Amino acid sequence: MDIAHIFANPESPILMPAPNLRTTAVIPCAVCEGQQITVLAVRDRHGQPLENVLCRACGLVWVDPRPSNQSLEKFYSAEYRQQYKKSFQPKPKHLYRETLRASARLRDFLPHYQAGMRVLDIGAGAGFFSYVLRAQGIDSDGIEPNEHYAEFARSQLGLASVRTGFLLDITQRDHYHLITINHVFEHLPEPRAALAHMHSLLTVGGRVLMEVPNIEAVYHAPNKIFHLGHLYWYNPATLTALAAQCGFTLLQLDTHGSTQHIRVVLQKSATPVATTAVAHLVAGNADKVQAVRQGHTVRGHFLSARPYVRLAKKIVQYAREYLATRRFSNARELCDAIVKKWPLGRSQPHA
Ligand SMILES: [Zn+2]
Repeated sequence: MDIAHIFANPESPILMPAPNLRTTAVIPCAVCEGQQITVLAVRDRHGQPLENVLCRACGLVWVDPRPSNQSLEKFYSAEYRQQYKKSFQPKPKHLYRETLRASARLRDFLPHYQAGMRVLDIGAGAGFFSYVLRAQGIDSDGIEPNEHYAEFARSQLGLASVRTGFLLDITQRDHYHLITINHVFEHLPEPRAALAHMHSLLTVGGRVLMEVPNIEAVYHAPNKIFHLGHLYWYNPATLTALAAQCGFTLLQLDTHGSTQHIRVVLQKSATPVATTAVAHLVAGNADKVQAVRQGHTVRGHFLSARPYVRLAKKIVQYAREYLATRRFSNARELCDAIVKKWPLGRSQPHA
């Protein structure tokens, strides 16, 4: 291989340092601004090159270097096609699943809601959560970057308040009492700026109800975790530290179910906390995260009961979705039937 060939092929491994030897990040850590890292993974779940790194100082994990906007757009358009195919209409099983999930979110939402509160759902998707809220007589605003999802919310679910756009397009300062953001925050390339913006949109004492995946989860096979969509991976410590630096008090945090997703309730406090003041929140966290990730091996995963229990649950779920959805002719009818039958989701403990 000659020099000309190397420069004609910028992906040539000769020009790339061995990824597991790299110890400096391209993008500084979003929690502590550190750049000393350990490379956790060099491939995504499809086997494509994608590096996820662990901050040595605080334990945050992120995609580094970040792929081009073009790659991200391609990823999202593929995900979009996977879920919505070419018709721009979710299949009945997706309607069923998403409306049930939205109903389950209602259970965590209601204790924080009082009549008259202004509510914003960030990453409203196709509007299922707004729809479930409306069935309870609660109006909400929604913002969703995918125009097809947002259009579905408006035209099929009658939710005129779901706008197409990004979080930064919402500019009503000190306006909202509650912000919900469900499995969206991990997709955002500037998490600190996003949280600071949410802080500005809330009234003092206003709350953020957020759920994100947990980097400590062992739900998925270890080689099926990382992908382009999740630009940041949190655990309770890093999410808490970031929120504290953006002027939020942590009211509640729990990890739930087999997925170990992290749910937090954050409250807008008056002043942000300096970076150094949150160091105690992340002390020892990098070693903890690294130990979990290194301890979760492919062999160990498939020797455990987890993947088989998950498969069995999925088979039951698919059968249930098929049976529950076959008699409905349109989206609205199906969503209404679910909301009426399971207003707080199907798995409510007292059901
Ligand atoms: Zn860090």
